[in-house]
Amino acid sequence: MKTNLLEFDLAGLVAFCESLGEKRFRAIQIYRWIHQQGASDFAAMTDLAKSLRFKLEQNACIEPLKVASEHRSKDGTVKWLFDVGDGNAVEAVFIPEDDRATLCISSQAGCAVGCRFCSTGHQGFSRNLTAGEIIAQLWFAEHSLRRSSGTTERVISNVVMMGMGEPLQNYSALVPALRTMLDDHAYGLSRRRVTVSTSGVVPMMDRLARDCPVALAVSLHAPDDVLRDHLVPLNRKYPLRELLDACVRYLASAPRDFITFEYCMLDGVNDRAEQAHQLVDLVRAALPGKSWCKFNLIPFNPFPASGLSRSPPPAIDAFAEVLSHAGIVTTVRKTRGDDIDAACGQLAGEVRDRTRAAERMASRRTISIHRAKARTFDCKEADIG
Ligand code: SF4
Repeated sequence: MKTNLLEFDLAGLVAFCESLGEKRFRAIQIYRWIHQQGASDFAAMTDLAKSLRFKLEQNACIEPLKVASEHRSKDGTVKWLFDVGDGNAVEAVFIPEDDRATLCISSQAGCAVGCRFCSTGHQGFSRNLTAGEIIAQLWFAEHSLRRSSGTTERVISNVVMMGMGEPLQNYSALVPALRTMLDDHAYGLSRRRVTVSTSGVVPMMDRLARDCPVALAVSLHAPDDVLRDHLVPLNRKYPLRELLDACVRYLASAPRDFITFEYCMLDGVNDRAEQAHQLVDLVRAALPGKSWCKFNLIPFNPFPASGLSRSPPPAIDAFAEVLSHAGIVTTVRKTRGDDIDAACGQLAGEVRDRTRAAERMASRRTISIHRAKARTFDCKEADIG
């Protein structure tokens, strides 16, 4: 079986080339052809000796993901659905803005964390993506966008690991993919422009700080453990106190001097002004006397059967006002790509519905609804992706 070279960071590709009797500089040439030029064919690598190209043809391949669909929004957002086999699909979303062009990519097919408000969480967990499948989303999007806009310049300026899956539960594939994003021989993105978003896998946050410290976003969504236990079930394992301590530790290695907290605004669930005041107290207690975090408030992006509502704009504004008044930088995410279901998990959910996943999830949802009732909550489900 041929080795897919998209699986490798530079160190891995050097080791592979050495196994073929080739030197490190050959690996750098190949790495640049793949990631900077978008080559998928060894014949295009014209500065490699014919004998090496032949050796590569015999032993290796550059295997992209299969594109199941592409949706383009009126606002420039592009969403791709990639078929990763066995009825599974993952999504990547390109979001152009005035000062940046961000690609949001996936780390797993489905997700085991099961956040109550998340379309992906409703689909359950299928499998981890490989490093090659993670980086292939960036490889495809970057070079496809260059072709469609007729440029040879870099298009994507930022990458966020905020699509399907919990990246820190797929750590061994995540780190080589991150290294390729950062490598000057590949995409050359700065650490500040690559963000890993986690629901709070505390031990892996510490490892990421040591192994590959990129910008960190944490899905918070609640100001206390009781509500967060329900919205983000991982909180039962790593409660808020432990999570915030890990965030403070991460700051010592982080490329930015703040952590971003993502907070999905759910009407009547977590959007009251008193809950904003609780959040202020929470972050101040974690690191007194320092402005160390910012909040990104995300209006819930409805998906079929979620049963949840987006907080009304005045409630979001009032919530943001409390945080801002306390000196915390607070932004409200613009909703993008509403016309193409750009919230992560929505298109993939439709694919999986055709593979009987809907039945499996319906039974899981019944169980979770019973649990929710037992805990006397009236929480619904939303999507942040
Ligand atoms: S919000 Fe993220 S961690 Fe939670 S279920 Fe969805 S994909 Fe998983």
